Amino acid sequence: MIKWFDFTPILGWSVSRYDKFNLCKRQYYYDYYAKYDKVYPIQKIKALKKLTSIPLEMGNIVHQVVKVLLERLLKSEEAIDESQFIDFAKRKTQEHCNSKTFSEVYYKEINRVDAEVLFGEIHHALNNFLSSKRYDWLTEKAISNKLNWIIEPSRFGETRLEGMKIYCKVDFLFPVNDYIYIIDWKTGKRDEEKYKKQLLGYTCWASYHLEKDPNKIIPTIAYLRPSYEEVHMKFNEYDIQDFAIQIKEETEEMYSWCRNIEENIPQDKDKFIKTTNNKICNYCNYRELCR
Ligand code: SF4
Repeated sequence: MIKWFDFTPILGWSVSRYDKFNLCKRQYYYDYYAKYDKVYPIQKIKALKKLTSIPLEMGNIVHQVVKVLLERLLKSEEAIDESQFIDFAKRKTQEHCNSKTFSEVYYKEINRVDAEVLFGEIHHALNNFLSSKRYDWLTEKAISNKLNWIIEPSRFGETRLEGMKIYCKVDFLFPVNDYIYIIDWKTGKRDEEKYKKQLLGYTCWASYHLEKDPNKIIPTIAYLRPSYEEVHMKFNEYDIQDFAIQIKEETEEMYSWCRNIEENIPQDKDKFIKTTNNKICNYCNYRELCR
């Protein structure tokens, strides 16, 4: 059973938080400490934080649609009507394009996001999944234990690793025989090193909440495009110990940018220096504030 934790303000490690911390300290500050900024109103920073991008939104839509598909399988094991499903994905794409502000448009790189073009990519990713052996296996074998499926649990995937607060939100977890399978859907480009950390995090999450031996957990990255492809990794207790050492170092590094660690109050903004790497800035939501 998933365990719940009382709220504590202390920061929690996650792959994305530490990535941001490494990428640009100023971006990290805007993402996590906007309320302490004395120069820009919090609403402005939050509005910029909310900007999406074409690759990001493609991932969001695919995740949402696959989640609905899996939840539909929970309700009924009947084969899905693929054309209706694709139609639903098309409507979702249109809705997202109408309701979201894309950074590419906001920063005038393009005039508008063409929902048809975006849907073309999404359709391709969904077709790859529906025609994969994994989908057949899910609907023919794994479904027999569907009452124990966990599909995108709420609460951001909070867990504990040797007492440290960490966040690792799984997309889809399901038991088959004596094993727990975890699948993380990807629509972007490959980054094996980053994903290894993510998969280690999922293993910790499942091991903690479901009290399962890491050897019996099979975390998988499923690339949905350009073709369906999976990367599996398996970890043991030594990998988890090693991971805990790494997370402790990374967490302490982030703590060192806090004036008050327990309350998660940051040092002065000046300490969060701007990157000098223009390539990072070119894709950053906060360009308007920095330039
Ligand atoms: S625009 Fe550049 S310097 Fe400013 S927050 Fe973004 S990445 Fe950092």
